[in-house]
Amino acid sequence: MTSAYDSNNIFARILRGELPCHRVFETPDVLAFMDIMPRAPGHTLVIPKAPARTLLDVTPASLGTLILGVQTVAAAVKTAMEADGLTIQQFNESAGGQVVFHLHFHVIPRREGQAMRPHTAQMAPADELVAHAARIRQALGGA
Ligand code: 5GP
Repeated sequence: MTSAYDSNNIFARILRGELPCHRVFETPDVLAFMDIMPRAPGHTLVIPKAPARTLLDVTPASLGTLILGVQTVAAAVKTAMEADGLTIQQFNESAGGQVVFHLHFHVIPRREGQAMRPHTAQMAPADELVAHAARIRQALGGA
């Protein structure tokens, strides 16, 4: 059974500016920022601004802008982190591994032969997140 959207989830609070994030990309519909517990250096989250709990709750229009945002961010993350490949993850409900109940895609840069760290295992130092966000923003053509 699925639950309703909780407007006090962490990502809703980030969207409202109540909590900080290391922002890399923003459009009227999409926000992307660094995951604070990266599974690999440069791990970035891409979320719709419209409230949606899981992939099953999003409108086609919002999903369209979201997946285009994922592709844009993925290209920049791969360039910025000099990655050999990318893992894109998306979890739905606790049974599916979801921890934060606002729809999001994980963009995880991968290096040949390097395993990902476990999910939500360890906070990254803030200066590392700041530096990686700056590299990704630069790859996106921003400051
Ligand atoms: P999921 O819901 O897809 O299982 O994972 C949620 C992701 O959000 C995890 O990778 C976790 O590290 C990340 N996360 C949890 N809390 C915060 C937060 O306050 N800020 C940011 N930037 N990421 C978070």
